[in-house]
Amino acid sequence: MIVVMKPGSSQKQIEHVIQVVREMGLKEHVIVGTERTVVACIGNERFKDRSALESVEGVDKVVPILAPYKMASSEVKKERTAFPLGGKIGAKVGGTKVAVIAGPCSVESKKQTMEIAQAVKESGAVGLRGGAFKPRTNPYSFQGLAEKGLEILAEAREATGLAVVTEVMAVEQVELVARYADVLQIGARNMQNFNLLNAVGEQRKPVLLKRGMSATLEEFLLAAEYIMAKGNTQVMLCERGIRTYEDYCRNTLALAAVPELHQKTHLPVIVDPSQGTGKSHLVDAMCRAAIAAGADGLIIEVHNDPEHALTDGAQSITPPQFTEMMKAIRRIAGAVDREV
Ligand code: PEP
Ligand code: MN
Repeated sequence: MIVVMKPGSSQKQIEHVIQVVREMGLKEHVIVGTERTVVACIGNERFKDRSALESVEGVDKVVPILAPYKMASSEVKKERTAFPLGGKIGAKVGGTKVAVIAGPCSVESKKQTMEIAQAVKESGAVGLRGGAFKPRTNPYSFQGLAEKGLEILAEAREATGLAVVTEVMAVEQVELVARYADVLQIGARNMQNFNLLNAVGEQRKPVLLKRGMSATLEEFLLAAEYIMAKGNTQVMLCERGIRTYEDYCRNTLALAAVPELHQKTHLPVIVDPSQGTGKSHLVDAMCRAAIAAGADGLIIEVHNDPEHALTDGAQSITPPQFTEMMKAIRRIAGAVDREV
């Protein structure tokens, strides 16, 4: 439930509400709005008596939150959430400006990563993606450069100012990855790894949460709720395609999820057209469609030599193609009152 304070309620009254919430065995999450303050009560509220809160001074009303996810729900917070990505550029995700994160699927070498980072930066990217820990279907496939890869990403950030976005696959990697990364990526295969969600929830760095390939939007939002319930409210949701019977593409990119999520949550929503299609020739159109649908950002695989890429070459676009795509989405963004 959420406790809506009267406009102009005092700090003392808010503190008293917090005390009552805690006495009820719930946790508070205070959202200070432009007009009034709202105290969201987090926890299992079954059998809790709302009337105790209703009579507290300064309280306007107590409203139940119907969605099973609470902190992530737009019922709790009407304004859209925006937060900085980190890096020297200091771009945000969730505001009017669309945030474009680009880079190789995997960090393969310093030369490869630097070249791609410079190229995408020049074309307007604000974040650099690249996996140092790769979740591979086949145990004999390239698994990533691990810490060496993270070092390369940090060097690329130093050289370009781009925010580093990289995947963390396991609880025991969280501290290491957080030392190098600006944004912690939780991959589709780990969307319901609840221990990992709790662990990144303890961090104070933004999290890019990918939708599991067979997850419903409700499961997706509950995964975000795990992270937020631990105190990390900087979560962006990433639609990266789901598995269907279709086989013309690697995944089916469910772009309707973008406006639907925008209705259900205040969190930023971004799109990954690379895992979402698996084919480089489909990436450009899906980037344009994602921006038209209202996406707050994109995460795109770009490789300077896709033919020889160690992972996901078939879905990687080249730097010149990336440049063209950026030009195209600038036009689309303008048409939907956004900027790139
Ligand atoms: C990736 O971004 O390279 C990746 C492995 O993504 P996903 O978790 O969406 O499959
Ligand atoms: Mn990939």
